[in-house]
Amino acid sequence: MSSNSGNPILVLVDTSPEGQLRAGAGELLGAAASVGSAVALALAPAAQAERLSQELAELGATRVLVADSAAAGNAVIAPLVDALAAAYAQVQPEAVLAPNSIRGRDAAARFAARACLALAVDTVGIDRDAEGIIAHHSVYGGAYLVDSAATTGALVITLRQGSSDARATAQPAQLELLAVQSSGAPDAVITSREEAVIESSRPDLRGADIVVSGGRGLGSGENFSLVESLADALGGAIGASRAAVDAGYVPQTMQVGQTGVTVAPQLYIALGISGAIQHRAGMQTSKTIIAINKDPEAPIFDVADFGVVGDLFTVVPQLVEAIEGK
Ligand code: FAD
Repeated sequence: MSSNSGNPILVLVDTSPEGQLRAGAGELLGAAASVGSAVALALAPAAQAERLSQELAELGATRVLVADSAAAGNAVIAPLVDALAAAYAQVQPEAVLAPNSIRGRDAAARFAARACLALAVDTVGIDRDAEGIIAHHSVYGGAYLVDSAATTGALVITLRQGSSDARATAQPAQLELLAVQSSGAPDAVITSREEAVIESSRPDLRGADIVVSGGRGLGSGENFSLVESLADALGGAIGASRAAVDAGYVPQTMQVGQTGVTVAPQLYIALGISGAIQHRAGMQTSKTIIAINKDPEAPIFDVADFGVVGDLFTVVPQLVEAIEGK
C-alpha cells in the first residue's frame, strides 16, 4: 500500500544516455512511496525532462528533478554524485534510494561518503519503524533477514531489483530542472562507446520476471538447449550455476550466485542444480522457486516452493510441451 505522502524519499532513477527510463524505476518509486513521498531524480538530456516527468509521475513520483546530462560529458559516476548532492540539499530527504546496479551502487557509495551519511547496499526492501527508515538485508545465502538503520541523518540505500512488490499510484508531479555544481571529483571517463550486438531476444538476467537456470546436471553445453527451450516457452531469461559455467556449458555472464548475478524474479526454475549456499545466495529471494532434481536430498529443495524429483531430461520436455500446448 503506497502512502505518497509524508517525508520526502529521494529516488535516483536509471536512464539511458538518451534519457530513456531503464527498468526498475517503478519498483524504486513504489518502495519509496510505501514509506514517504517519492521524489525522483534523473540525470538526462534537458530536452527529455518533460517526457520523463510524465513517465515518472505515472510511476508515483510527486516531484521530479532533472539534472541536465549535457554537462556530464563522458564522465561515468561523478555527475550522478554531483546531482545527488544538489538534489539532497534541495529536498532534504529522510532517505535516498538508488538502484542496486553497478552505477547505482557506485554513485550511492560515493554520495554517502561525500555527505557523511550511512549506506545500506543490496537491500531487499525498506520499511519504517518508530525511529525512522529501516532497510532489510538478506544475508548468509538468504539464511537470515537483517534490518539496518542510520544512527543519524538520512540512510542511503540501494535496492536489489525485483525484491520489492510495492508500486505507487500515478501522481501529478512537479518538474524542476536541477542546477548542479560540478565537484570536479576524480572519475573514470568513457573513451569509446560501441553498441554490443545482442542476438538474444530473451530478457536480461538482471531484472527478468522469470529465470530458468541450469546446473551441472545438464551434463553438457549442448544439453543447455533444454534450459533454453523452457526459458523461451515461458519468456524468461537464462541463468546457470557456477559448476555449469566452470564446465564451459555457458558464459560466466549467466552465473547466478555469490560470485555471479543476484536475481529476485517472480519465478526461478532450477534444473539440475544441487542448491549450494553460494548459488542460493544469488536466487533465494525469488518469489517462487521450482526445482527439478533427481536427488530427493538435494538442498535446493529446502528453498523450493515446488519440487519435482525426477530426471530433467524426461521432465523438462514434457513441461515445455504442456506450456506450448496451452
Ligand atoms: P552440483 O553440485 O554438481 O549439482 C548437480 C545437481 O544436478 C545434483 O544435485 C544432481 O542430483 C542433479 N542432477 C544430475 N543429473 C540430473 C538429471 N538428469 N536430472 C535432474 N537432476 C540431475 N556456485 C554458484 O552456482 N554460483 C556462485 O556464484 C558460486 N560462487 C562460489 C564462490 C565460492 C567462493 C565457492 C567456494 C563456490 C561457489 N560456487 C558458486 C560453487 C558452489 O559451491 C557449487 O559448487 C555449485 O553451485 C554447484 O553447481 P551445481 O549445483 O550445478 O552442481
